[in-house]
Amino acid sequence: FASTKDFDVVVIGGGPGGYVSAIKNAQLGLNTACIEKRGSLGGTCLNVGCIPSKSLLNNSHLYHQIKHEAKTRGISINGEVGVDMASLQAAKEKAVKGLTGGVEMLFKKNKVAYFKGEGSFVDEHTVNVKPIDGSEEVKLNAKNIIIATGSEVTPFPGIEIDEERIVSSTGALELKEVPKRLAIIGGGIIGLEMASVWLRLGSEVTIIEFQNAIGAGMDGEVAKQTQKLLAKQGLKFKLGTKVTKGVREGEVVKVEVEDAKSGKKEELEADVLLVAIGRRPHTTGLNLEAVGLEKDNKGRLVIDSEFRTKVPHIRVIGDVTFGPMLAHKAEEEGIAAAEYIKNGHGHVNYANIPAVMYTHPEVAWTGANEEQLKEQGIKYKVGKFPFVANSRAKTNLDTDGFVKFLADAETQRVLGVHIIGPNAGEMIAEAGLALEYGASTEDIARTCHAHPTLSEAFKEAALATFDKPINF
Ligand code: FAD
Repeated sequence: FASTKDFDVVVIGGGPGGYVSAIKNAQLGLNTACIEKRGSLGGTCLNVGCIPSKSLLNNSHLYHQIKHEAKTRGISINGEVGVDMASLQAAKEKAVKGLTGGVEMLFKKNKVAYFKGEGSFVDEHTVNVKPIDGSEEVKLNAKNIIIATGSEVTPFPGIEIDEERIVSSTGALELKEVPKRLAIIGGGIIGLEMASVWLRLGSEVTIIEFQNAIGAGMDGEVAKQTQKLLAKQGLKFKLGTKVTKGVREGEVVKVEVEDAKSGKKEELEADVLLVAIGRRPHTTGLNLEAVGLEKDNKGRLVIDSEFRTKVPHIRVIGDVTFGPMLAHKAEEEGIAAAEYIKNGHGHVNYANIPAVMYTHPEVAWTGANEEQLKEQGIKYKVGKFPFVANSRAKTNLDTDGFVKFLADAETQRVLGVHIIGPNAGEMIAEAGLALEYGASTEDIARTCHAHPTLSEAFKEAALATFDKPINF
C-alpha cells in the first residue's frame, strides 16, 4: 500500500504560480506540499521561458553593442569580437540553475514539503504522487488543492517539432549554433524575442504572421512603431501571411506560405523553423476525470472570482486558467489563492497586469490601449514624449521610442501607459503604481523625477496629456 500524508494545502505544479503559492500558504501557517514533475522548480518561466530567454537577450544585446556600437562610443577593440555559443549557453544554464536551486532553498526555509513527481487526482481530497525516481508512490490527503500545472507549446497542425530543425521556444533557446536562416511562425512576444536574439547573433530572420500586425495585445500605434524599429534592425516581416506547410528535408526546412488576402503561394527555405503561435493550458496526467472539473473551449480550467472550481476546495491559478499567460500574473494569483484559503479574501487587479517585450528597445504596457478605450466609448486624451528629447537617452545614444499616456479626458485619471524604449520594462512599474492608486497625469507631472533619467520622459508624457511638455 502506498503511504498517505496529510496536508492543509497541496499545490500541483512548481512554476511561478505554484511555487509562490506554496511559500505563501506555508508563511500563513498552513501545512503545505508542492508536487513538481519536471525535476526542478520554477516551471516554464525559470527553466525554459522568462529566465533563459532573458539571459540570451541580454548577452546577445551586449555582443551586438560591442560589435556594432563600440566605435561610436569611443571604445576600441583590438582583435575579433565573436560569439562562443557554448559559453553563451553555459551562462544561461548558470542563471537557470542558480534560480531554480534558489526556489528549492526557499521551500526548505519555509517548510514546504517538496514532492518530485507527477501528481494525479484520486478523489476530491487525495492526490497521488508518482515520483520521477521510480520510488514508491505516495498519496497526499489535502484539505485544499491548488492546480498550477501551467501551459505547453501549442502545436501547429501538420508541422512536426523535432527541437533540432523545427523547434518550439524550448528548442530555440538551446540552439548550438547560429542558424543562417531562421523562419518564425508567429509575431507575438515570444517569437519577436527569439527573433531578436538570433538576429543579433547573425541569423537572417523572417517573421511570418497571419494577422496584419505584430505583438498581440499591444496598442496599435505602439505595435506599428515597434515593427518599424525591428525592421530597421534587419528583421523581415511577412504579415497577413498564412503558413500552409513546414517540412524538414535533410538539413533544411521548406516552409509553404500563402498571402491571406490574395492566396498567392510562396515557398521559403530556412535552416531552422520556430513555431511560436502561442501556448495552451496543460492538464494531461492530472486525471481530472476523478474530480470532474470543467474546461472551456480553449482547454482552460473554469473557476470563479476566488479561483474555485465547482469543487470549492480545489482552486486553479496561472497559465492553466483564464487571463494573460504571464509569470507575474500567475504569482499574484498564487498569493491571492493562499489568502482566500487562510482568510477568505484575496485580490488581483486584472486591469493592471503589465506586459513587457524584452527586445531592444523594450516594449511595455499596462492598463487600457487606445483600441480598447474606443471600443468602450471612453473619452481620453493622449500625451506622448519621445526618448530623442530625453537627455539621458541622448547621452546613452539610445533614443528610439516614446512614452504614451492615455488619460481620462475629464479627470486626467491614468487609464493606460504604453512605452517603447530603453528600460521600458522597469519604467512600467511606475505606471502600475499610478493605475493602482488612481493617480491622474497631473499627479505624475507634479512629482519630482531625478535628472538625468529616462523616467523624465515618463513625467513629460504625463504632462503632455494636459499641458505643453518642457523639453519637446
Ligand atoms: P508553469 O510555469 O508552466 O509551471 C507549471 C509546472 O507544473 C511545470 O513545471 C510542470 O512541469 C508542472 N506540472 C504540470 N503538470 C503536473 C503534474 N500533473 N504533476 C506535477 N507537476 C506538474 N512570462 C513573463 O511574465 N515574462 C517573460 O519574460 C516570459 N517569457 C517567456 C518566454 C518563453 C520562451 C516562454 C515559453 C514563456 C515566457 N513567459 C514569460 C510565460 C511564463 O513562463 C508563464 O506565464 C509562467 O511560467 C506560468 O506559470 P505557471 O506557474 O502558471 O505555469
